[in-house]
Amino acid sequence: MPHTICLIEGDGIGPEVTAAARAVLDASGAELTWLPLAAGAAAAERFGDTIPEATLEAIRTHRIALKGPVTTPVGKGFTSVNVRLRKTFNLYAAVRPVRSLRGIRTRYENVEIVVIRENTEGLYSGIEHEVVPGVIETLKVTTKAGCERIARYAFAYARSRGRKKVTVFHKANIMKRADGLFLDCARRMHEEVAPEIALEELIIDNGCMQLVRDPSRFDVLLMENYNGDMVSDLCAGLVGGLGVVPGANIGDEGAIFEAVHGSAPDIAGKDIANPIATIASLAMMLKYSFGLQKESDAVEQAIVSVLEAGYRTADLKEEGKTTVGTKQIGDLIIERIG
Ligand code: NAD
Repeated sequence: MPHTICLIEGDGIGPEVTAAARAVLDASGAELTWLPLAAGAAAAERFGDTIPEATLEAIRTHRIALKGPVTTPVGKGFTSVNVRLRKTFNLYAAVRPVRSLRGIRTRYENVEIVVIRENTEGLYSGIEHEVVPGVIETLKVTTKAGCERIARYAFAYARSRGRKKVTVFHKANIMKRADGLFLDCARRMHEEVAPEIALEELIIDNGCMQLVRDPSRFDVLLMENYNGDMVSDLCAGLVGGLGVVPGANIGDEGAIFEAVHGSAPDIAGKDIANPIATIASLAMMLKYSFGLQKESDAVEQAIVSVLEAGYRTADLKEEGKTTVGTKQIGDLIIERIG
């Protein structure tokens, strides 16, 4: 009986990039079936909720999903579907491997960073209120249990993958108690889980400067939710942009795989979005959720082969290279899976 992958295609460029990933999976030889599910503004219109109960129930049952980006209204409107899914399923670890891809020319050549972001609390508690007119408070919620859980995950991850160093980005000089707790938990989990791995602590502003100056000095990065959101995009910029960086939201009882990027409304519906980040998220899923190492490697190698052959979507435009659309680059990847 083939495993089932829940599929949320999302909106904006979501349907285009998930269609490309879906075609790649179907060509990869992995015996998995898709279960399309609704989420986002369209789901709210049709079913009265941005995440209908049927979607929640399917993810509860099958535990693994591939998700396209979902638009969140700015400054008003419904709570982020992404944040809600991560909290509902306790997907506390966002894992975002950021690596230089052979074939893409960027400022840096040896980037091999994994950003591990706490995914369920911090400033993304969504608790905001007006104290008196003109004064808004947003609560940053930091728990010892949440900090220990993500730090334990990060050190176990580093150890299991032969990584040498975990760098914690924090702002404990200002948020002495919240980020102080995060740092304290990281130190204790370091001792408990992987004392042989180097632990580095950097105040985040300095950390960002060091990242853009020499990203090759970093290995695994660990940080709380809001900081991790910012730093993930910054790191994506080091290796070619949001079009190429995959991600996974991992919990103890399930995982949702999705690219780091959002719904990119500025380029939606034009067949120009880069599907590589979503296809690479699929490759992560094959490996980590289903143990399909061979199929996962075939997909990753096909991506590099297409880039080395000089094909690019518009976001990676480079002189002397051939610019192709979303579907075409997906088809080129499929051709090379063999
Ligand atoms: P974005 O990531 O959608 O886009 C930022 C820039 O990167 C844009 O110029 C866009 O064209 C480009 N870009 C992103 N992905 C690309 C791709 N695959 N190929 C080529 N270019 C790509 O960020 P934004 O514009 O700040 O946010 C748009 C919407 O997405 C917002 O509603 C936001 O809330 C939502 N969002 C969703 C998720 C998610 O679903 N996980 C993540 C981030 C943002």
